[in-house]
Amino acid sequence: MHNHPTYRPGVGIVLINGAGKVLVARRADVKGEAWQMPQGGINRGESPQDAVLRELREEIGTDKFKILAESQSWRSYDVPGGLVREASPVGGWQGQRQKWFLALFKGRDADINVATDNPEFVAWRWVSPGELPALAVPFKRQLYQDVLGEFSGPIRKAVNSISASAAPRPPGTLSNLRSHQDVLPADAEGELGDGGPLAITDGEVNFIEGFTHDGSIGAECGLQLMRYWGYCERHAWVSLAVEMSMLHGFCSRSASLYVDILQQASTALAGNNQRAVAKRLGESGSCMICNANPTWRGLLSTAELREAKDPARLRSFVEGSAPFWRSDCCPRCVSGVTGGHLCRRHMIEAINEGMSLDLKHEREYFLNVLARLENYAWSFSWGFRGIDGPEDRAAIISAIGWCSGWSSLAALLTFGPLSSASPVRSVGEQGKSHDQRD
Ligand SMILES: [Zn+2]
Ligand SMILES: [Zn+2]
Repeated sequence: MHNHPTYRPGVGIVLINGAGKVLVARRADVKGEAWQMPQGGINRGESPQDAVLRELREEIGTDKFKILAESQSWRSYDVPGGLVREASPVGGWQGQRQKWFLALFKGRDADINVATDNPEFVAWRWVSPGELPALAVPFKRQLYQDVLGEFSGPIRKAVNSISASAAPRPPGTLSNLRSHQDVLPADAEGELGDGGPLAITDGEVNFIEGFTHDGSIGAECGLQLMRYWGYCERHAWVSLAVEMSMLHGFCSRSASLYVDILQQASTALAGNNQRAVAKRLGESGSCMICNANPTWRGLLSTAELREAKDPARLRSFVEGSAPFWRSDCCPRCVSGVTGGHLCRRHMIEAINEGMSLDLKHEREYFLNVLARLENYAWSFSWGFRGIDGPEDRAAIISAIGWCSGWSSLAALLTFGPLSSASPVRSVGEQGKSHDQRD
């Protein structure tokens, strides 16, 4: 009974399209959003390459692809106890031991069909490699990161040779900044500077780029972000900094995310029972970026990474709108601040300490921030350009500070601590607060 290996031999396939996006599909037999790359067992007498061909035909209904690379070694992962069925229909396997292949899709999207004779998947889509680990079930995340890391060189090479021969992309996308000269060899990964005062890493840039480049947050990720009120403190500011640098200030994604979150906050603050409010303000889940612990620098060139990690644009944005967010700063996050509004976590802490907060006043404050943030979010829509003033831009700073905390913002600022006594640049605006404008 015990003479078979405990890991089922199989293959996994990183199928990319010409834009370097990776095919993921959602499993039919797993509840919830479990996206994965195609994979399957190797049949008796079959070579791994044969298994790739068979699996892609069976799972996504096409053989229009070309194998570009093969993993150096076999990689294994354990399947958690309750899911042993995934490892083998007859059971008894501890996990999978896989040879991974990188393949380039040569067909059109219409050639892909997951509704095959024995459908394993209910949906499929192309995603940025950086987005992939977060979409996968936790026990496959490390494997996916490792595999994408191993294939990052060949993926970059394939995309570069395709984009060199393809029609130019529309202006404003990062891809047309990419050139052969500034693509680093794969072994130079992780040696691209310190990431500035926020210590942004290459992997974080790549992960955040995966979201911002398409402007698409999947439903599951969106829900995760809402439940956690965004990100952990550092990642909240890092993601704003990266989005701001990479998209040249076009922070439409962050703006609309925080509009949703502030709506949730104003709902949570309604009611008189402070303990109940504290409970509603609590978070569940964890920071999506911490969770993914992204280490892959992705397809970004050295120049793009350097630009993305440079917080200069966020710094000038933060400084330019300082008169309108400064008075919102949480006095428990930043020592020396008086007045202000407790951030979400410190609000919960204060209520649990037995302090009585003026929730009605807090809620009015939120509705004011929300209205300004909506203006800011609208300003990214065609026809609404320029409707945002510095007080509207400040709303995103107030929103992130309230959700995640203010202390890491100080690292960014050239004008010293956040205390209200410190000088600000636009002296004329000082003292003007959000509730004095009307
Ligand atoms: Zn985090
Ligand atoms: Zn605080």
